[in-house]
Amino acid sequence: MSIPTTMAARLRKAARVILVGPPGCGKGTQTTRVLNRYPQLTALSSGDLLRQNVRAGTPIGLEAESIMKNGGLVHDSLMVKLIVGELSRRGYLESKPTHAAGLISASPSSASSPSNSSDLPSASFLLDGFPRTQGQAKKLDEEVSMNLVVNIDVPSEVIIQRISNRLVHTPSGRIYNLTWNPPKVPGIDDVTGEPLTRRSDDFPETFKKRLEAYRKETEPLLEHYDKAGVLWTVKGRTSDEITPLLEGEIKKRFG
Ligand code: AMP
Repeated sequence: MSIPTTMAARLRKAARVILVGPPGCGKGTQTTRVLNRYPQLTALSSGDLLRQNVRAGTPIGLEAESIMKNGGLVHDSLMVKLIVGELSRRGYLESKPTHAAGLISASPSSASSPSNSSDLPSASFLLDGFPRTQGQAKKLDEEVSMNLVVNIDVPSEVIIQRISNRLVHTPSGRIYNLTWNPPKVPGIDDVTGEPLTRRSDDFPETFKKRLEAYRKETEPLLEHYDKAGVLWTVKGRTSDEITPLLEGEIKKRFG
């Protein structure tokens, strides 16, 4: 099924969104679609940022490469430096408070913002793949108060099927699925005509490790954000099922 072309919509206030979900749940696909729908949003994908660093052979890339190849998690200190640095460069943390104890409050009623981040729609951004551990979430809380955490809940059997059929265009991050969303020409990116590849960490043994890391390190974050009153869960088997629900929720909260 192809997704109908969506009309661009506007945000009335700043949306600071985190997408959480197991590897292969479609975070990247949802990110692309939500950005098309809400052009005021920009996205930051920790996986894409790391892969760029690996390709460019930066010190961060060199340190992360073998960990990523093995399906492990890159150290918190490195990730925080990378993501917080990027958010700061993009101007989203400009009004960061000087105190360091600004964790997301434990209850919605006391959800006073740890930061004075702008409420203007232009200060909207979406994080894909960060934070992934309690340590990363705490550091992010100190910098900025996220106001929507989306838990993408897709059945495991669907994810495994999806991963074994996934091809990517590495330079752009465009993702194809041989079953639901095949390229027009087999093995070739629709936009650039360049070859598609399989992500090395999508092979079964590595993928299993990534799934384990998600269950152990990342799933507990859902409770953290639930307590902070910002968690919203969306369930579905396909990205096409999930997209309208996600866009509707963003519209309800920020549109
Ligand atoms: P992704 O594209 O989000 O699935 O990320 C690919 C790989 O990059 C992961 O399997 C991890 O090795 C690494 N990675 C991405 N984001 C993080 C993060 N927030 N913390 C630790 N490692 C990460």
